[in-house]
Amino acid sequence: MYICPYCGGNCVNEDAANMYLKMVEKFFKYQNKDSEITFERYPTVGEVGECKKTGGRIYLCPYCKKPFKAYYIKDKVTITCPNCNETLCIPATNRTFC
Ligand SMILES: [Zn+2]
Ligand SMILES: [Zn+2]
Repeated sequence: MYICPYCGGNCVNEDAANMYLKMVEKFFKYQNKDSEITFERYPTVGEVGECKKTGGRIYLCPYCKKPFKAYYIKDKVTITCPNCNETLCIPATNRTFC
């Protein structure tokens, strides 16, 4: 059971969250912390739904397994989890630089 970071409700898609956590396990197995490639070095954040009240996108951190409000930093492909401060990659489809 995950708590929505926007409204505190149950907006997180549990199936998507479980699937993501299973997938990310594989990543950690082959993680290359010395890699020059960002996507080999850091796990990609999980997309686990939208807040039903605010429409805000919800991300899931694979380290602390807590959902947080999706955000991105201009011109950057990584963000840090607001809960545990680990570095995470943004999903490729969400990278909008304008
Ligand atoms: Zn919500
Ligand atoms: Zn975290």
